[in-house]
Amino acid sequence: MNHLKIELLTLFPKMFEGPFQESLIEKAQTKGLIQITIHNLRDFSEDKHHQVDDKPFGGGAGMVLKLEPVFNALKTLGALSSDGDKIKESNSPWVVYLSPQGENFSQKKALELSNKTRLILICGHYEGMDERAMDWIDEEISIGDYVLTGGEIPAMVLTDAIARLIPGVVKEWDSIVHDSFFSSKLDYSHYTRPQKFLEKEVPEVLISGNHQEIDEWRKKDSLSKTLKKRPDLLDQNYSNEPA
Ligand code: SAM
Repeated sequence: MNHLKIELLTLFPKMFEGPFQESLIEKAQTKGLIQITIHNLRDFSEDKHHQVDDKPFGGGAGMVLKLEPVFNALKTLGALSSDGDKIKESNSPWVVYLSPQGENFSQKKALELSNKTRLILICGHYEGMDERAMDWIDEEISIGDYVLTGGEIPAMVLTDAIARLIPGVVKEWDSIVHDSFFSSKLDYSHYTRPQKFLEKEVPEVLISGNHQEIDEWRKKDSLSKTLKKRPDLLDQNYSNEPA
């Protein structure tokens, strides 16, 4: 069974208190499917006041996240040697920096990261990290073309999307496979009781009990929703397309 260890480096550990203690993410930790550890970057500062930011060389607005706390944290967590070289062993962590300048996050990327055994997610703040720290990371990931205050919410987004793709976290893998973006289509429409509400009825086929017809209806519904809402998806080549 896949076990993923996610370590988050942040200046604001309290921000993570709610989201990881509820619902599927909390259960996944209890079941031992994922282990989430929050590290305070300030604890890795060499400064006696635990300062982690400084003014930018060249002047200008904002502060910059210093190199030393990031380096010390990555070294302590086994991602870097004392010389600052990346440690590349089978159990070395994969280091991600959350950044608006990174590759846009996707379900495909979430699936790829869910197959790792150790992930370190670095949450930036201020104007971001000193650029020299980029040599220490494996990839930069963005959650969209807008700028947030810090990398905490993006790190929560990644953790949630990745965790639910670990077998056993969501009860039935079949529901993952039909989710939007798992393949190049959006999910089909879902209905529940009551069968009729204010003249609105559930499609007849779904109460027919004929599973072959239900499957066919769902395939068609998924395709027509995709054509209507996200036709661009159909041009994308997904390797994890369900049968
Ligand atoms: N000056 C930076 C720029 O324009 O590229 C933005 C810095 S932002 C105020 C502070 C931190 O928030 C970043 O270092 C990053 O960790 C995080 N962040 C902000 N927007 C993000 C996004 N869309 N995706 C991922 N991380 C983001």
